[in-house]
Amino acid sequence: MANPLYDALFGIHAGKDTPFLISPEGETLTHGAFVSMAAQFAHALRAGGLDVGDRLAVQLEKSPQMLAIYAACTQAGVIFLPLNTAYTGAEVSYFVENSGAKLFLCDPARETELAGALAHTGARIETLDAQGAGRFAAMADAQPDRFDTVSRAPDDLAAFLYTSGTTGRSKGAMMTHENLLSNARTLVTEWRFSAEDVLMHALPIFHTHGLFVASNVMLLAGGSMLFLPKFDLETVLKLMPQATAMMGVPTFYTRLLDDARFDRASTKHMRLFISGSAPLLAEIHKQFEARTGLRILERYGMTETNMITTNPYEGERRAGTVGPVLRGVELKITDPETGAEMPDGEIGSIEVRGPNVFKGYWKMPEKTAEELRADGFFITGDLGVRSADGYVTLVGRGKDLIITGGFNVYPKEIESVLDDQTGVLESAVIGVPHPDFGEAVVAVLVPEAGTSLDTSRIATAAAEVLAKFKQPKSYVVMDALPRNTMGKVQKNLLREAHADLFA
Ligand code: ATP
Ligand code: MG
Repeated sequence: MANPLYDALFGIHAGKDTPFLISPEGETLTHGAFVSMAAQFAHALRAGGLDVGDRLAVQLEKSPQMLAIYAACTQAGVIFLPLNTAYTGAEVSYFVENSGAKLFLCDPARETELAGALAHTGARIETLDAQGAGRFAAMADAQPDRFDTVSRAPDDLAAFLYTSGTTGRSKGAMMTHENLLSNARTLVTEWRFSAEDVLMHALPIFHTHGLFVASNVMLLAGGSMLFLPKFDLETVLKLMPQATAMMGVPTFYTRLLDDARFDRASTKHMRLFISGSAPLLAEIHKQFEARTGLRILERYGMTETNMITTNPYEGERRAGTVGPVLRGVELKITDPETGAEMPDGEIGSIEVRGPNVFKGYWKMPEKTAEELRADGFFITGDLGVRSADGYVTLVGRGKDLIITGGFNVYPKEIESVLDDQTGVLESAVIGVPHPDFGEAVVAVLVPEAGTSLDTSRIATAAAEVLAKFKQPKSYVVMDALPRNTMGKVQKNLLREAHADLFA
């Protein structure tokens, strides 16, 4: 009896006493102990009434136990549905109801609040805290540490992962065993992960980056992870000497660069730093190299497709690009209006096909039909351009494209110009309604600490390099850009806040 994902990621580690998860305090959980813990949780899932194909929704603090519950779901044929810990009761209730989850796991501290919010869904609630204690842990404690793995086909569902909700309401992406396993295999090879590796893991595990990219890759490679509850600069710096590689969002790297202790000496043993989930400014890429002598490897992916492109392990890691498409995945740049393929060097809509591409959005057949073509190509919603030698550069999301007076303006081009100005830490360019132009280009600027920005000087500098229609019609200065937990700039919030600028 085979279970593709369970066998490859977890089953192979049964009985091994090699280190798998290392806590900030230095406690080690072995691969074998992790697999046993997962088996006990698999029994607890059955005891909790979950059968093959049922959904388990969890909103838990990151812990080895939470990761073991993902393994348990895989082993028991239950669909794993992790939720962002920042979600409110109302949001959680939407996901639980939408997914039809029979069982919901949460932190004991939030049980009363969430029980109220979920009352109408009929889902049963059990608890587990950040230390791995709670009613669900107690249910698992008494269970045997072996579980008969449920047989699954490559096309069977393993998880529903909700998108980050950067552009609208989060959608539940249905991921199969094959989707997850094929991508993890490709990434292990591309990035040369092995059992010798120790990954600095400070990402959340309710999102594809920390859960599937980081954890699946390390499970497949057989290495270990420094498993931090969250990104804490002191802890990351303290544990860095034990790591060989790190995966992070760009804000992790800017925070490390802000600290003088992060330098050549403290990173010289590191084999690899990987960045994704949000754009890594070319400037940060350069600063990182100047400081450490190492080049960050930037890759691009999304919940619905896992990873799509990566800069090479060997070969040129080109700043500002996300590299060529992964082996086994097809990528094309198309005309957003007609879907016709565009030549290299021209901006268009990024479409992707391959074993990594999801089955569709749960209970959203219209949305699925809009984005997933009959021939298997998925319309990512991102705009980009491919160079003649295959490197992809993202220019922003389709939804962030600004159309002003009939001209297309790609925010990233304007942001790059603004970011280069003295005193500007970062920027976000948005389109807001304008009576004459349809939309007007607006620049939101964040000054470097301790500087005050003269926006007229910046407007003059922008006018020297940008065509008139691309120049921001208004400048707004803010202390920080609004970001979600994955470090993504929430342009929808900026658009809402400034919707009336020209009204
Ligand atoms: P939603 O789909 O709900 O609006 P989201 O698209 O932010 O949210 P995710 O699936 O977490 O949800 O994120 C995928 C998106 O993240 C990609 O479509 C892309 O826009 C962005 N992204 C990922 N990696 C990179 C990268 N290296 N550079 C720039 N953007 C990236
Ligand atoms: Mg998306």
